[in-house]
Amino acid sequence: MSYVDEVYQMVVEKNPAQPEFHQAVKEVLESLRVVIEANEEKYKKDALLERIVTPERQLLFRVPWVDDKGQVQVNNAYRVQFNSAIGPYKGGLRLHPSVNLGIIKFLGFEQIFKNSLTGLPIGGGKGGSDFDPKGKSDREVMAFCQSFMTELQRHIGADTDVPAGDIGVGGREIGYLYGQYKRIRNESCGVLTGKGLTYGGSLARKEATGYGLCYFTNKALEVLKGDSFKNKKVIVSGSGNVAIYAAYKATELGGLVIAMSDSNGVIYDENGIDLDYVRELKEVRRGRIKEYVAEHKSSKYLEGAKSIWQIKCDIALPCATQNEIDINDAKQLVKNGVIAVCEGANMPSSLEASKYFIENKVVYGPAKAANAGGVATSGLEMCQNSMRLGWTFEEVDNKLKGIMENIFANVYQVAHECGNDFDTLKGANIAGFKKVSQAMLEQGLI
Ligand code: NDP
Repeated sequence: MSYVDEVYQMVVEKNPAQPEFHQAVKEVLESLRVVIEANEEKYKKDALLERIVTPERQLLFRVPWVDDKGQVQVNNAYRVQFNSAIGPYKGGLRLHPSVNLGIIKFLGFEQIFKNSLTGLPIGGGKGGSDFDPKGKSDREVMAFCQSFMTELQRHIGADTDVPAGDIGVGGREIGYLYGQYKRIRNESCGVLTGKGLTYGGSLARKEATGYGLCYFTNKALEVLKGDSFKNKKVIVSGSGNVAIYAAYKATELGGLVIAMSDSNGVIYDENGIDLDYVRELKEVRRGRIKEYVAEHKSSKYLEGAKSIWQIKCDIALPCATQNEIDINDAKQLVKNGVIAVCEGANMPSSLEASKYFIENKVVYGPAKAANAGGVATSGLEMCQNSMRLGWTFEEVDNKLKGIMENIFANVYQVAHECGNDFDTLKGANIAGFKKVSQAMLEQGLI
């Protein structure tokens, strides 16, 4: 058995019942096979793969909090500090009932390579809880966040581990978390990113993942197909932070967004979605996407989140969650003539679906490259916090655009060297791995 296969088998055996983590490891190891097998003895002696697939530290803790009826509730919480070879652990916090250790490990593992691709000095981590903010009052969300941070603050710090938002964690939650950190630690610092603009946040951080996704997609379309967003029909799954700002930027670049979704269903309008309405509905009113059709008579509502992939489009931007595109969805998209599928969400396509896009010469933007704009701008927020100053929106946005185009260039170069310009999956994994592995080897036993 080859070293790569041995390590994959070990991951499956040592981490039972964590299918998303197995999937993320398999995807990366398959891409790295060519690099590892060229120098197998050396990597094996250094146990480099065993080290890279094993988190440096995993924290599991309980979060007790009191609901509005006076009842004590208890949630499970996690912080996985996966790899600090190139800088402090960095990665978001997810609040969703589906969260478990395997999900956090898959996200943390992906984050190592993503953060490496940004070119910034940040390591990989991820955290979260099975707390569901949906339907909770502001006071309940605050109570949870304060209790969560009461434990988490022991393990994080501006130079140690810097969490940010993810599913279920936006500006409101980051505010409550940061406030509690300060009450306990008595320090104002860049320990969290995605902060509010009044207390150390960066302009353009909220927009960064969605905007960055479109900068990446536009560059990839230009290089691989001599094309762009202009006059293209775009579908964007989800209607959260990433989806909303991806939809705005896709529109600004000349596309027409015809469908969006949430976990219950899809809104569809051939004439284009009213994005200001969606933003207000989701960010301010915290409503359901279904409510859109009542006020937009030319639109339709389709039950079930999956139906979005049946809609004919030129560009698909999955921005909701993991494994939202399976092989059947991928086949349908290709049959409908899709030219680009770029991932705002983390691991939204199954491995089979990703391979199908690449085989069919679809411009494919794997998550760890295409959605790296969020963490890159978090890196820029850390930089501004350290300098005790703030850049303008344009300054941050220009840096973000430069970073995304640079990520595409690196990914493309490796894909090209490997003999298939469309294999951005291999390109991203190998490009991300090179820097992390070198940093690990140079620092001895990290
Ligand atoms: P939000 O919580 O703001 O939005 C999540 C969206 O996805 C909502 O529309 C939600 O619908 C939908 N969704 C969540 N779970 C499911 C599910 N199981 N099935 C279908 N739809 C679902 O999160 P973000 O926009 O921040 O994150 C979206 C994705 O982008 C995630 O994969 C995240 O890891 C990734 N990402 C986020 C970054 C960031 O900066 N925020 C950075 C890089 C990646 P509903 O309201 O019905 O739950």
